Amino acid sequence: MKSLAILGSTGSIGTQTLEVVKRFPGSFSVFLLSAAGSKTSLLREQIRIFAPRIVYVASKEVAKSLSREFSSCGVTVLSNEDELSQIVAQREVDVLVAASSGISALPIILSAIRAKKTIALANKEVMVCAGELVRNLVKQTGARLLPVDSEHNAIFQCLQEKPLEEVSRVILTASGGPFLNKTLDDLKEVSVKDVLNHPTWTMGPKITVDSSTLVNKGLELIEARWLFDCAPDKLEAVIHPSSSVHGMVEWIDGHVHMVMNRPSMLYPIQHVLTLDEGRKGGSFDFWNFKEPFSLDFSPIDETKFLGFSLAKRAIQQGLSMPCFFNAANEVLVNRFLRGEISWKQITTKLSDLMDSHNPIPCSSLESILEVDQEAGLLASQA
Ligand code: NDP
Ligand code: MG
Repeated sequence: MKSLAILGSTGSIGTQTLEVVKRFPGSFSVFLLSAAGSKTSLLREQIRIFAPRIVYVASKEVAKSLSREFSSCGVTVLSNEDELSQIVAQREVDVLVAASSGISALPIILSAIRAKKTIALANKEVMVCAGELVRNLVKQTGARLLPVDSEHNAIFQCLQEKPLEEVSRVILTASGGPFLNKTLDDLKEVSVKDVLNHPTWTMGPKITVDSSTLVNKGLELIEARWLFDCAPDKLEAVIHPSSSVHGMVEWIDGHVHMVMNRPSMLYPIQHVLTLDEGRKGGSFDFWNFKEPFSLDFSPIDETKFLGFSLAKRAIQQGLSMPCFFNAANEVLVNRFLRGEISWKQITTKLSDLMDSHNPIPCSSLESILEVDQEAGLLASQA
């Protein structure tokens, strides 16, 4: 039985992780659940069903109330982040599923890496801001970092630990989001509802907005750069509206490996959680190759999707720029969701903010948190 600690259990990835756990009774136990505390009834239900030993909730008030409710059932509820960091390093944890949003989980993930755990990583912002730090620590300790993000999971399956010198290009696919076929003119006025209506994926609100601006694909390029230690000039992304192919590796001899599955995060989540046991069945859809279907690929229009070209600029500038880009974008996305700025302003303001930032070395936890805070503050006032 593999013992799981799940960060972000009430989110889109967290709930799907628990769905995979349910599919394989006897294969997984849930040692820890963690959330911010905004969906208390869902968290309560998860505690009842999965009986974790530890629950972490960022909100102290919610933690107090859950503690009153569940301590008699042997559940310890805490809201101290240092305690959480220590707990994920304990012997009882086999796999840390990192599925919370933003970079709040960075210290916890670093602690699990130091303890040589297996980390199933969905939380892309952590790799964007602290990719170099995480990568180096993984190399030093021998911890395992397994990509959950669908594109990266596909690329991981293609690469199979082959030497990077044999790779010509690593290619991520992008559905293009809800505005793929809109003109720049159409995009002058779009509502939150238009943005949250993603054609192929059902996800949390922040990542859904990022998919509409293609900032998400940009964040994923940066994530891939560090997950696979891949030189930026070998990384590409292409539009592929049906989200059937998720990632491709082109080898120097001209062959291309690609991984296809239906657009559901259940596939990559199950893949990483059952990796050691070999492939397992489930309730998956299979392709009917007897019916005609096509795989379309086209380039990304970087004028329409300014967010993607800003991400490429962040990779090229390096140092603190990817972290600054991520944090400023997160705040701007939240301002859009609250109706304070327009959809277009997410990326125009992001571009102006990046112009004003002088990249500085940023490879320690402290410096990353500082840049994150500074960018967030500037974006809240922009
Ligand atoms: P959601 O917004 O749906 O869920 C976020 C989760 O994180 C919730 O459980 C939330 O708790 C928790 N959380 C947020 N802040 C904190 C905090 N400070 N301390 C503890 N817990 C916190 O996000 P998604 O599931 O969509 O995404 C999670 C991560 O996975 C992101 O990094 C995203 O980029 C990545 N990802 C998501 C994909 C998807 O399909 N959704 C695909 C690929 C990657 P609460 O519910 O209490 O607020
Ligand atoms: Mg993805």
